[in-house]
Amino acid sequence: MNRRADVVVVGSANADLVVTVARRPSAGETVLGDDVTTIPGGKGANQAVAAGRLGASVALLGAVGADQYGELLRESLRSANVDTGLLRTARRPTGNAFITLTPDGENTIVVSPGANASVLPADVAAASPEVAAAKVIVLSLEIPLETVRHAVEAASSAGVRVLLNLSPVAPLDEATLRRLDPLVVNEHEAAWLLGEQDDPSTSDDAVAERFIDVARRLRELGPRSVVVTLGPRGAVTSDEDGTTVIDAPEVRAVDSTGAGDAFAGALAVGLAADRSLSDAAAFAARVAATAVTRVGAQPSYPTSEEVIS
Ligand code: ATP
Repeated sequence: MNRRADVVVVGSANADLVVTVARRPSAGETVLGDDVTTIPGGKGANQAVAAGRLGASVALLGAVGADQYGELLRESLRSANVDTGLLRTARRPTGNAFITLTPDGENTIVVSPGANASVLPADVAAASPEVAAAKVIVLSLEIPLETVRHAVEAASSAGVRVLLNLSPVAPLDEATLRRLDPLVVNEHEAAWLLGEQDDPSTSDDAVAERFIDVARRLRELGPRSVVVTLGPRGAVTSDEDGTTVIDAPEVRAVDSTGAGDAFAGALAVGLAADRSLSDAAAFAARVAATAVTRVGAQPSYPTSEEVIS
């Protein structure tokens, strides 16, 4: 790397194979969809591209295969000014995500990890100077859990702020949870962590109250701070300064794929710039709202000038 990055994302890179269908098939059923589009994605690469496009200095630590999808990802990362010096070429194929989109803007996703499964603690150890020099390290769970745990410990021991997006959900030990600042979850992940049923029935009026309580109870599990993202309803942050409800700007959503990653990448940019958690989350909500007005994950992420106010 030429210069050490302020934001180091340790995570996955996938090629997203996206098909739009009129409605989702049920088990055993076949439906016809539109032409497949291939879009660079993966939670780690998405978060890195979101941060890079906003002008932050960012590097992605991860792995892709020696194939066309790996090239697609490298190109997308380079064009967002993401440093790829820590992105290894593995023997396994580049990871894929198979995404179906329906006209309501919702999605379902199956991920095949491929090269992402080969990102090991040794990769993080080999990059310890870069990790220690970062202001914020960003993690999500599409790479092996032991690698995530190692990265959390290495970064936090070096005094680096750790942002972890618990997606897809997996159990974290208490020592790891205690190092997170913040833990970022959507409402389903929050319910999972708290061992509760998802409750989509909450009326809009009661949402803020309910998720203020959810954020408070999540902090009791150990993390130094928590962000609960609520899709079009915004987010709730909780840290030692208190609990804050962040409204989502009203937009016409066309594709919510990667909204959470746009949010996490932008949140990391805000925190690396020493903004408070609630300020950084308000900025992230504007970035993510801009992203849902466009198709795809990485291609939908805005530059600072494009972020809606
Ligand atoms: P995904 O898995 O689709 O990437 P997620 O479930 O991790 O997303 P969400 O809570 O759906 O995360 O979205 C993250 C953030 O994106 C929200 O907190 C919100 O700020 C923003 N967002 C998502 N959908 C919308 C929308 N329709 N309008 C405005 N903002 C939105």
